Amino acid sequence: MANLGYLQVVRHCNHVCGFCSNPTTPYSHDLSSMKTLVDDFVERGYFGIILTGGEPTLHPELPAVARYARDRGLHVRMITNGHRLAERPFAEAMADAGLQLVHVSIYSVDPGIEAELRGTEGTLDRAFAAIDNALSVGLEVNINCVINRMNSSHLDRNVKVLTERFPGLRHFVWNNLDPSMGRAEVNQEQYTPRLADFELSLHRAMRHLHKTGRTFRVEKVPLCYMTDFAWASTETRKIVKGEERIVYFLDAKQGVRQTEWDHLYAPGCARCTLREICGGLFDRGDGYDPAELAPVFVDRDQVVETILNDASDPARERMSLDRWREVHAERVARAKAEASEASNDERKHLPVVGQITDKSMRRFEAKRRAEGKRTAERNLQMERLSEQLPSEPDER
Ligand code: SF4
Repeated sequence: MANLGYLQVVRHCNHVCGFCSNPTTPYSHDLSSMKTLVDDFVERGYFGIILTGGEPTLHPELPAVARYARDRGLHVRMITNGHRLAERPFAEAMADAGLQLVHVSIYSVDPGIEAELRGTEGTLDRAFAAIDNALSVGLEVNINCVINRMNSSHLDRNVKVLTERFPGLRHFVWNNLDPSMGRAEVNQEQYTPRLADFELSLHRAMRHLHKTGRTFRVEKVPLCYMTDFAWASTETRKIVKGEERIVYFLDAKQGVRQTEWDHLYAPGCARCTLREICGGLFDRGDGYDPAELAPVFVDRDQVVETILNDASDPARERMSLDRWREVHAERVARAKAEASEASNDERKHLPVVGQITDKSMRRFEAKRRAEGKRTAERNLQMERLSEQLPSEPDER
């Protein structure tokens, strides 16, 4: 199994996206606390690590933690807005440290929309410079995109413009907006799309990538909105392959180990042939409407076989469909037996994530004041503090 672990190395950022699900907190990491979490992924037999944030390139020890993770045998990846990778020496330093793959996040190829989504001017040019630098120093580059109300109509234009400008891009990742956390939770009206808003443009985008021999993944989108490319659903792939994911959040949530991938299903889902391998409707945050779901009647086994036989998957396990049925049935039975009690116990055994120091608290307070002004100017709300701080939320 190719389990990938997420390590948030910082929780501050130089952009102020109105739908950020992981905004600033007072928690911080030093190299030692990050090494502890890298070691944890290694001990669990994880395939790779994704360094993320906040904006991970703002941590001065980022090259050092990348080098440590690579030396310990992990496949090292990073998710970034591209701000610092736009500086060539930094891109070289990261490649030299052992970074192998970078996900540059771009929401829209329209510079005005991109700037508005990020609350910061000039971000698209820097992201483009980051892609150029990353490709030229030998990194693999993927594009990450959060689907939201402002880009839902032109996901296909994003893909066409980006692949034309950067033919070396081979893989795209879409995450439908998570309306349950951070600023996304309190600004749902401005940013949470309806599924129908992006169905057509997402389909056109996937078709273009598929036709040009590229690959892609889509998370938090039910299979009835991507039926032709159901094998590309992150949740479906994890259900089929029995994969888990740990995220080390640099906030009060701390470590979260996710082993189940199903969310909410509508009554009609009971008739759907994809029900068993579908993650359903992302229900946390109550941002999406179950009335948008509609059963589909396509060959489930064909989707499973496409995933099992995917030559581009680094952890492909050759397995017949009959064998998969047995393995899958065992996994489902085990998951049911281990539900509730066991997962609570597991959480207690995850390592402590980061620390709050005087310095990190001062930075948090200054960032929060500055971000408060910038969100108010855009008529947006600031995030609640309940998950950001270790104790009771206050009126800060
Ligand atoms: S109808 Fe339900 S089970 Fe079927 S694809 Fe849609 S969300 Fe999934």
